[in-house]
Amino acid sequence: MKAVLAQLIALQNADTNIRRLQAEIESIPERRAEIEKEFDQRAFEIRALEELRDNARHERSRLEAEIFEQKQRAERADRNLMAAKKPDEYTAAIREADAARKQISTFETQVLEQMEIAEQAEKDLAERAPEVEKLGTDMEARFKAFDEQVRTQQQQIASAREERERLTNELPKTTSALYKRIAARIRDGVAMAEARNGACTACHMSLRPQIMADVRRGAEVITCDNCNRILYYAPANTAQPVGAS
Ligand SMILES: [Zn+2]
Repeated sequence: MKAVLAQLIALQNADTNIRRLQAEIESIPERRAEIEKEFDQRAFEIRALEELRDNARHERSRLEAEIFEQKQRAERADRNLMAAKKPDEYTAAIREADAARKQISTFETQVLEQMEIAEQAEKDLAERAPEVEKLGTDMEARFKAFDEQVRTQQQQIASAREERERLTNELPKTTSALYKRIAARIRDGVAMAEARNGACTACHMSLRPQIMADVRRGAEVITCDNCNRILYYAPANTAQPVGAS
């Protein structure tokens, strides 16, 4: 009967393993999405920098067109000044020329500001280009690793299923049926519970000394009165923990 308990423990380990592997495979789409989100965030920052640079360049062109117009206005005022015959014509021409030159000066300052903005954005973009490229390469590498992981874990699941099939077939029919029934009913699917220090480690219910002694002997399949799991005894705690997650 001790062999039966050992097989039950192995069966439980195979089941726990299958569940863990499946959970890991199922978590991959979410992990992929997180990586994509991070990449999108960086790409978004880059696009914002590009937009900043382009806007500054457009604004600079617009200001330069304004300067051109104001220069023509100033030249016109200068000609008017030369041709002025009356004092009020003279005053008006001077005022017009001053206004135009003042505008030119303001626009020139703004052109410098836009040039600085565009240069800074260009510099930031150049600095970040390798980082973004690396991020893209990293993302591909991580996706490839995920694919690899899925392939490996699916193989592991397949062999764990073979193992559990073999164990189930080796067990007495009533025992495998009992295991199946308990595993299906218990939330985490862990049908086995270690009996330790006079208690069931799954539900912490105390076990009567007689039960504890029977479990230690391992001559028959004994279930916990409280949680119905199959109890087993692991001498000196050397047995692999079952469903420790
Ligand atoms: Zn219990």
